[in-house]
Amino acid sequence: MSVLPRPAASGRGLVLRTWPTGETSVVASVLTAEHGLVRLMAKGARQTRSRLRSLVQPGRLADLEYSLDPDRELQYLRGGSLALDPLATATTLERTAYLLAALEIVDRCRPGHGHETGLFTLCQEYVQVLSCADAGIEAALYYAFEVALLDLQGVRPLLEDCTQCGRDRGDLSEGALWLSPAAGGMVCAACAEGGAAAGARPLTADALARWNDLAAAPQHWPATILSRASARDWGVMLHRFLEYHLPGYRLPTALDLLRAGRGNSSAARIAGESHPEEDGS
Ligand SMILES: [Zn+2]
Repeated sequence: MSVLPRPAASGRGLVLRTWPTGETSVVASVLTAEHGLVRLMAKGARQTRSRLRSLVQPGRLADLEYSLDPDRELQYLRGGSLALDPLATATTLERTAYLLAALEIVDRCRPGHGHETGLFTLCQEYVQVLSCADAGIEAALYYAFEVALLDLQGVRPLLEDCTQCGRDRGDLSEGALWLSPAAGGMVCAACAEGGAAAGARPLTADALARWNDLAAAPQHWPATILSRASARDWGVMLHRFLEYHLPGYRLPTALDLLRAGRGNSSAARIAGESHPEEDGS
């Protein structure tokens, strides 16, 4: 038998997704600060008295101890302590849905692959801000998170001047501005007519006025409260940008929670309208 110590690691992690395995265990997909994405087997974590149980819930930040055997795809969670449960207090449907939607994108796409530390820092910031966000700003926070993901991917939307001909935004009237995922940002009406606006959407003055808030660095969040029209515009535009630029992206199923709750929540209505082309109801 080997007497070498088993390789191990410890550090902060964010639980992205979990699924049951065996009689009582859980496998968790965890984004860690030090080691990127790891899959952890939490033995017995579905048992009521398991000390691992509280650590492997989606959205939770925890300081974890786990094996780190390079020959294994699945590591073992050995212990740890909970740092933050963002849904612990005053949980709303909006907070839950926008939390789970963000986790879903990160788990599926891992934007900025190779820059895991940056991705972890961004996700940790988002979870922390969302956990104590005032009701009503969840959608704007989520959009700010999406902009930051695009930034990590190296495809932050460019809105200063026309990405095609370089005409300054200030020289163009409202109604002459479009936002185009394929062009990587804003295009003027003349360039849009020239075919640069495939998949583009008109950029209203109100939506444009909110851009600085949505594009702010995470340390300057929380983001603004959006009007319903702006929330709809940015929801659709950022969805299209992510769809165009982030391999593997698709509209998070967690946003269906908001559609299901539509009719008893204004934020739910906004989110439902944000992606009308996806709405089969
Ligand atoms: Zn132009």
